[in-house]
Amino acid sequence: MKDQKAGNRGRPLAGPVPIDPSWYRDLVESAPDAVILIDSEGRILLINRQAERLFGYQREELLGQAVEMLVPEQFRKAHALHRDGFFAEPKVREMGAGLELAGRRKDGTEFPIEISLSPIRTSSGLLVTAAIRDASERRRANEMFRALLESAPDAMVIIDHTGVIRLANAQAQALFGYQREALIGKRVEVLIPERLRERHAAHRAGYFVAPKPRGMGAGLELSGRRKDGGEFPIEISLSPLQTEEGTWATAAVRDISERKRAEDRFRALLETAPDAMVIINAEGRIELVNAQTERIFGYARGDLVGQTVEMLVPERLRGRHLAHRGDYFRAPKVREMGAGAELSGRRRDGSEFPIEISLSPLDTEYGTWVTAAIRDVTQSKRERDAAVRLAAIVESSNDAIIGKDLLGRITSWNRAAMHTFGYTSEQAIGQEVTMLFPPERLHEEEQILERVRGGEQIKHFETQRRAADGRVLEMSMTISPILDAAGRVVGASTIGRDISERKQADERFRSLLETAPDAMVIIDREGRIVLVNAQTERLFGHAREHMIGRPVEMLIPERLRGRHGEHRAGYFGAPKVREMGAGLELPGLRSNGEEFAIEISLSPMGSDDSLYATAAVRDISDRKAVERKLARTADNLARSNRDLEQFAFVASHDLQAPLRSIIGFSQLLRRKYHDQFDRDGQEFLDFVEGSARHMQALVNGLLDFSRVGSQGPDFVQVNMETVLARVKSQMSAIVLERDARITHDPLPTLLASELEINQLLQNLIVNGLKFQPGPEPRVHVSAVRKGEAWQFSVRDWGIGISPEYQQRIFQIFQRLHSPEEYAGTGIGLAVCQKIVQRHGGRIWVDSKTGEGATFHFTIAPDV
Ligand code: ADP
Repeated sequence: MKDQKAGNRGRPLAGPVPIDPSWYRDLVESAPDAVILIDSEGRILLINRQAERLFGYQREELLGQAVEMLVPEQFRKAHALHRDGFFAEPKVREMGAGLELAGRRKDGTEFPIEISLSPIRTSSGLLVTAAIRDASERRRANEMFRALLESAPDAMVIIDHTGVIRLANAQAQALFGYQREALIGKRVEVLIPERLRERHAAHRAGYFVAPKPRGMGAGLELSGRRKDGGEFPIEISLSPLQTEEGTWATAAVRDISERKRAEDRFRALLETAPDAMVIINAEGRIELVNAQTERIFGYARGDLVGQTVEMLVPERLRGRHLAHRGDYFRAPKVREMGAGAELSGRRRDGSEFPIEISLSPLDTEYGTWVTAAIRDVTQSKRERDAAVRLAAIVESSNDAIIGKDLLGRITSWNRAAMHTFGYTSEQAIGQEVTMLFPPERLHEEEQILERVRGGEQIKHFETQRRAADGRVLEMSMTISPILDAAGRVVGASTIGRDISERKQADERFRSLLETAPDAMVIIDREGRIVLVNAQTERLFGHAREHMIGRPVEMLIPERLRGRHGEHRAGYFGAPKVREMGAGLELPGLRSNGEEFAIEISLSPMGSDDSLYATAAVRDISDRKAVERKLARTADNLARSNRDLEQFAFVASHDLQAPLRSIIGFSQLLRRKYHDQFDRDGQEFLDFVEGSARHMQALVNGLLDFSRVGSQGPDFVQVNMETVLARVKSQMSAIVLERDARITHDPLPTLLASELEINQLLQNLIVNGLKFQPGPEPRVHVSAVRKGEAWQFSVRDWGIGISPEYQQRIFQIFQRLHSPEEYAGTGIGLAVCQKIVQRHGGRIWVDSKTGEGATFHFTIAPDV
């Protein structure tokens, strides 16, 4: 090719090579098809050897003849017309352009031909070359294909790459309900439900990109749509088909409604199976599971299907299982449940559980599968274990457990029965149970059997039985019917406890109860009185019999009963000991309707199923009466105190005015009549004025005293340093005059009455300076924390106070000196004490004569 090209390029074209006319003949002769040249009249001008052979004529017989002699007689007229038409408007017409015609041989036989035509313009006019091909073969092939198509068991639909249906067989017609002609030329999507069409078209396009055969059962499931709109499940196999028009696809369509129905039935069957069903294929992969499988293994179906079945087997057993599975598939046969081997399953969470398996082979179109029915036997295993355990419990029980049949014969006898009654099981089993009854109790058996036959259980029935050695035993017995699997009573079991000791303990308890100093009431969960002592009878005035079994609320007034019931239920919900004096006070109600105050202590007794509460009840009417009297006295005291303060306040206030005028007039006397008085008179006048002033101080002190606490609730956060600063400035005259020094440590801020604290500090500091006669008196204020409270100290370096007076000085009007020695009224410290007490604190003094004094007071954190 390369060389040729190179050669072509290398050799310059020297004009057209002159053509020898004989070449044309050779060309025509060597053509594979029959070739005939005709003129516009339809006369044959030239034919080749193939034409001679095809039609069975000698060349000479045809040349110059009308071409219609090669056409079957019935078409000749039409052919002549066509021919004229072609010459009127000549153009090339190729083979296979749908022009299928028939030829006629010399012997008169006809055969299908295909013709291509091409016009040739020559100097002697328009000629036509017809190339003719025997189409018998092709037609036969076509027909065979069609027959094949028709005989296919499935509906066959052939589409081209644009999705247009080119061919459909009778089965397709029957399946989809369309006339075949109505399908040809339509898009294949008419055979598919509308909702799937778009998706299908996309798939189809995808298929034609890389078309390859896809067999049935390759998962290609779809819905078909009938002409009447009905849908049905189909399965499709595809194969590409090479045609002259490109790649087509043959779709074999199978209606799988039946199969689906069968499958659904099978599935439904599977789902209703009581066991987990797992179907695996020959590779051991899970094909199908039912809901029970999901439930007992804890997997969702989707997690199981397609996995190897070993995922349901505990890891340590997987290797063994694999080997077994191989063996089974080599010789599969039905294997029933309970055929010995107990296996283990593995849940999704890794936990294991005992299972039983039955296997059966299942023949499918995909080979032999195996259906495994799997049963979780945890329960039955548990039941077996439980039965064993139960037997052990019965044997080890401390209670005698005796089984008997409905005739009263002993059928079982545990170890405790042996110990209680002194018979071995060999001695007891098979005997009448009445051998255990004292003669006077023999009648009980008939009644017991009567009730047991009726299915009744007799609980905690207290009676007496007799041991082998003749001892009479106090017994508490619970007798229950024994039922068979069908629920029929077939016997009775008796659980008996020797309560001889308990009975004695009961007696002890009772006597203890009777000697208790308080009324004791024992109630059960429902609030019913179970036990009372003599004190209870006395206190409430009810006879014992009248109280037992009745609600405890009968002992309290009616208006409180509802609430009491609720409290009681609450107590049983969280029972605990509640002592006397824990605020549990209530009015009690005596039988005569009289109410009286009681105090109650509670304590729980017993446990859960037999829980009781013991209430000790004490009559506190007397104490209540004393309390009431005390409260009344306190009230009266407070009232008279208030009256007194009120009086002091009013009195001192009203005394001020006359005092002022006494002082005023004595000053007037002194000024105006100074000369008229002699020395004695002057002195008397001084006395009058001095006494009046002293009285004024007393009255002011009294006013101060009665004012303390009268301001009402005036407590605020008070900064003590600020207060002290103010006190200092209020005292600046004294400080200056005496050259005094008032010092202090850091002082806190606290909750107090600002006015009163001011007065308190002032009084103490004034005293500290006053009773320090020397020069440069000094007072120091400090504070320390004492727990929650603050303790303040006001120290001086004065004359001090001897211990015997240290209490007295806080009383009103109490002083240790005459007014001549130290001025004063004896009220200051009393006021201080009143203020401190109102602040929840106390005040005291530390001192020795001649060594100064320290006054301490505390202020409580919140008053
Ligand atoms: P007054 O100071 O008016 O006499 P007070 O009630 O303030 O009344 O004091 C009562 C008495 O306690 C005083 O008369 C004095 O004898 C004694 N006293 C008070 N404070 C001091 C002190 N700082 N040092 C020595 N004695 C004191």
